[in-house]
Amino acid sequence: MIPTVCVGPPQQIHHRQMRSQGGEHTIENGIFLCHACHAWVHAHPKWAYRAELLVHGWEEPRFPPVFYRGRMTQREE
Ligand SMILES: [Zn+2]
Repeated sequence: MIPTVCVGPPQQIHHRQMRSQGGEHTIENGIFLCHACHAWVHAHPKWAYRAELLVHGWEEPRFPPVFYRGRMTQREE
């Protein structure tokens, strides 16, 4: 996922809005990362917020539509 950092298959669910800031265990908020990417995201929060891999507690986690289980997810507006 993150070039030069990634070591392969996803192993951990990263909460884009951290659970300590009210992040929920939802599709919009969760993203699978390998352990190296996951550690890197938390070690580089400025970068991660720009990349929307971290979302502030007062923001709504959103993803563009993504192909999931055979259909495109819909944005909830
Ligand atoms: Zn990775």
